[in-house]
Amino acid sequence: MKPLTYYIDRLITFVYVASLAGGVLVCTTINTDAADANKRIVNIRSVASTTDIDHMSADDFLLDTEKAADKEDLREYLDKLRRNGVNNNTSEDEDALDDEALWADEDVKEDTEDKTDKEKSEEIKIDPDDWHLMLVNKQNPVPEDYEVNLAKINGSMYVDERIIEDIYKMMDAASDDGVDLMICSAYRSYDRQRVLFNNKINKLMGQGLTYLESYKVGSMSVTVPGTSEHHLGLALDILTGSYTEMDDGFGETQAGKWLAANSADYGFILRYPKGKEDITGIIYEPWHFRYVGTEYAKDITERGVCLEEYLKGGL
Ligand code: ZN
Repeated sequence: MKPLTYYIDRLITFVYVASLAGGVLVCTTINTDAADANKRIVNIRSVASTTDIDHMSADDFLLDTEKAADKEDLREYLDKLRRNGVNNNTSEDEDALDDEALWADEDVKEDTEDKTDKEKSEEIKIDPDDWHLMLVNKQNPVPEDYEVNLAKINGSMYVDERIIEDIYKMMDAASDDGVDLMICSAYRSYDRQRVLFNNKINKLMGQGLTYLESYKVGSMSVTVPGTSEHHLGLALDILTGSYTEMDDGFGETQAGKWLAANSADYGFILRYPKGKEDITGIIYEPWHFRYVGTEYAKDITERGVCLEEYLKGGL
């Protein structure tokens, strides 16, 4: 028989050992749970960071922005509707109504603009018998009985006296813009044109072309006597001090660009535009300007047509 203290000792030892073991067990369980919990947190974060949360946030952000934009749009819609006096009653077709109201607003504006343009062009009556629009080309030579009152512009150069004021205005305007314009040809008599044309033919024949070939090629750059607008006293060849060649390059100079953009304000058109060679029968001549009066000049330039097209109804 062991003494009672022996059993008490054993019991204390057992309780101690059991409590230690339990402690380890409890700790292990907690740690494992904690690890799993951490793992889950990590997983959630990694999933969230690559997909759901970011996208959700982005979507939310977009939705909020859209909502905000919608609110702004709505405010604009309502203001516009109010201005147009459209009743904004709630209806099934409220969106459609809003859209219609907006389009209606724009249509009204466009209609007004169209009308103004139409009224403008209707005011300009294209009268082929008006001296301003007198057509001179290969098919339409200058009438034999054509008479012109010439006025001297400078040196030995003359023009139809009716256009001299606009020429001075144009020269002054160019000068004010720092552009140097140099008139190198104006009125030409039939005899003068015949000399120029024959010189051209002779030059081309000297290069080995036959008379017919020379005539065909030459008449693209020097008009056949009787078919030049210069006979009318209504045409000017204009160059600039720093560029005195009559070729395409003049169109790229400051003077060439100024003339193309502004000459219509003084009644002149670029008579032989690029791309219209088949209609005019003349190469692109950025230096040759024809007087048709400011009204016609602006209309022709705005329409982007040549004189032949304009006289056929501006098409
Ligand atoms: Zn010319």
